[in-house]
Amino acid sequence: MSIRIAIDGPAGAGKSTISRSAAKRLGFIYIDTGALYRAVGLAATRAGVEPKEGEAVDKLLTTIKVELAFNDKGEQIVLLNGEDVSGLIRTPEASMTASAISAIPSVRAFLLDLQRDIAKTNNVIMDGRDIGTVVLPDAEVKIFLTATPEARAERRYKELVEKGMDVKYEDILSDVITRDYNDSHREIAPLKQADDAVLADTTEVDLEGSIELIIKIIKEKTNGAV
Ligand code: C5P
Repeated sequence: MSIRIAIDGPAGAGKSTISRSAAKRLGFIYIDTGALYRAVGLAATRAGVEPKEGEAVDKLLTTIKVELAFNDKGEQIVLLNGEDVSGLIRTPEASMTASAISAIPSVRAFLLDLQRDIAKTNNVIMDGRDIGTVVLPDAEVKIFLTATPEARAERRYKELVEKGMDVKYEDILSDVITRDYNDSHREIAPLKQADDAVLADTTEVDLEGSIELIIKIIKEKTNGAV
């Protein structure tokens, strides 16, 4: 039996950075499920399909293939029809498209088995919005990772500026607030803390402290099995 760690929370809470580092230290595979929604969003953009047009999106799903693979450093890459799109899906526009398209039920169904299958045969830390509530409701450990919208926007802003992108803090904050609203108010699989998830607030905690906190929770919850 594999050990499954579900980490959910709002955009920019540091889920991916923290989960990736914790997985590396614990020897687990890290799965970033947001990348899958981003890849479907990119497919829609390329096909000229509006992410809110349910029927057009349904049709699009019958023509695309989304896969997860790992490079030689063990990092996840996401393939859209065989093309590595991991870099292309990291723009603010791709974030908003992913947020809109992820509210469509057929998109969530399309990506469900892919996520579950990976967790069947591997020890995983999987991050997303509905991992503890929908994708892996029996996960051994569930963590809800959050921070204030301002702290999250600040972190994302710094990250994008470091990548050389020309962005404004106010725009990022407004995107964070819009995405929080979309993610927590959609009808299907909304972002919410699972009843049995541990809440971890990283507003006042730095990256190293957050990684240690997550590892501590995982060790406690697995009674030393990790
Ligand atoms: O985590 P990330 O910011 O890359 O996710 C992009 C978007 O994909 C989110 O805003 C959310 O709407 C959607 N998503 C989701 N369920 C997941 C992961 C991401 O709905 N498990």
